[in-house]
Amino acid sequence: MQTLIHVTYMVASVLFIVGIKRLSAVKTARSANAISAFAMLLAIVAAMLDIAHQGEIAWLWVGMGLVAGSAIGAYLALTVRMEGMPELVGFFNGMGGLASSLVAVSMSIFAWIAWGELLSAQTAGMTTTVGVAGLPEAAAETRGAAPLLTPDNAITIALSILVGGVTLTGSLVAWAKLKGVMSGGQIFLPGHKAINLVLLVITLGAGIAAFFVVPLGSITLLYQLLAVAVVASFILGVTFAIPVGGADMPVVISLLNSFSGIAAAMTGFVLYNNLLIISGSLVGAAGMILTIIMCRGMNRPLTNVLFAKFSLTGGDKEEYINVKSGDPVDAAIALANASNVIFVPGYGLAAGQAQHATRELADMLEERGVNVRYAIHEVAGRMPGHMNVLLAEANVPYDQLYKREDIEADFKNSDVAVVIGANDVVNPAALDDENCPLYGMPILPAHEAQQAFVIKRSLAAGFAGMKNTLFESDKTLMVFGSAKDVISSISEELKQQ
Ligand code: NDP
Repeated sequence: MQTLIHVTYMVASVLFIVGIKRLSAVKTARSANAISAFAMLLAIVAAMLDIAHQGEIAWLWVGMGLVAGSAIGAYLALTVRMEGMPELVGFFNGMGGLASSLVAVSMSIFAWIAWGELLSAQTAGMTTTVGVAGLPEAAAETRGAAPLLTPDNAITIALSILVGGVTLTGSLVAWAKLKGVMSGGQIFLPGHKAINLVLLVITLGAGIAAFFVVPLGSITLLYQLLAVAVVASFILGVTFAIPVGGADMPVVISLLNSFSGIAAAMTGFVLYNNLLIISGSLVGAAGMILTIIMCRGMNRPLTNVLFAKFSLTGGDKEEYINVKSGDPVDAAIALANASNVIFVPGYGLAAGQAQHATRELADMLEERGVNVRYAIHEVAGRMPGHMNVLLAEANVPYDQLYKREDIEADFKNSDVAVVIGANDVVNPAALDDENCPLYGMPILPAHEAQQAFVIKRSLAAGFAGMKNTLFESDKTLMVFGSAKDVISSISEELKQQ
């Protein structure tokens, strides 16, 4: 049985690696999800067998947990709207952190129980391995008769509490900011960095001390120290996330995703579970790589994203002057006479569910011999890959999708740029206004096209809350309305051309 369990763990680990590899291309991403989900099923089955093999398992409780968890997961996956995905991902990251914290706390309490049993066994004159009773068999083998109270266990458990707690509350703050429950602005406390450092020291100190007070036999002291460690880690998660605001949220989501993987890997060390260590490390590394890619995309170091203050002068409260607006007829005429057209999708395309209408318009233009391409900015929308997923749903051919760096130089050669519900990612202020929170972020230069049409409902600001100088450009015509309605009207007009 043990061999079967080990082989199942290994197959699941390999499938996780294959899954994450296939996620790197849009074409293979769907099968990647299926493979990874199957690997997770294998992992759950193997873990259940592992526990059952070693002793009693409360099947009823486990079964209820599985049914409830699967039902909640299926419900959320089926009902979530595409633009609500980042909040959901943020929330799931947080739950991963909570699980890690709970495992670490329960392992400390377990150590206390095991220590008590070891003492009573010694008093009764028995030689026993009771000090590791209840741990997975592999751990018991590794530890032999040694009790759990070793420095490496203490450090692992304290780190697990730290990373788990920070991931939980940090993710909840990110969720609240994205959901609009909390203001997206930056919040700095006096001596913010010092506060973070003190909280870090308290969490680790109390977490490690909790482990070493076990031999003193006071469960109250153990609980108190664990409570201090957990509460300090929760506060640290909040103080970590509140200074980050505006356009930097995607980076934080991705960083917290990485943290949730690290928390899972820590839990793997605590539970002596290799599969958890492997899968946690994969998530940790993938999240970290994505974080670095996004920081490069914004042309800013991570420390600047996490700790720098913006001076929010002006912003969307500045009046717009010289804005020209047109209607779908103007856009249809311009498109009918164009040879090269670039669509720039943004968050409003997702919110307005205009992906199918956009694809239909693109098809009509292609039939007329127009070269149509989509320019995808790495932080367009509200989650990494948001626009790719949305356009794939509408069956837009992959070869029409261009990454920012592959198409930015072509805007000046294009006849028309059609900006659909994008705002921050086409804001030229990012290039020349040092006071703008977007300053330094590479943009899609729609202002360089011969003509730009911006489709949105009003002059309202985008996620970063800033005025967009593209709207005032001589070459820009605003077409006000919801993305789907406007695009459909342009298609109707184009049929008349
Ligand atoms: P923005 O958030 O800058 O702008 C979206 C625009 O869409 C708004 O100005 C809004 O204007 C318009 N809009 C909303 N609903 C509709 C609709 N139904 N029809 C037409 N337009 C609509 O979007 P971008 O994609 O340009 O930029 C993304 C921003 O989000 C960046 O600042 C990025 O940093 C941030 N972000 C990105 C994440 C990611 O991972 N991609 C995650 C979290 C944040 P109006 O109300 O006038 O219609």
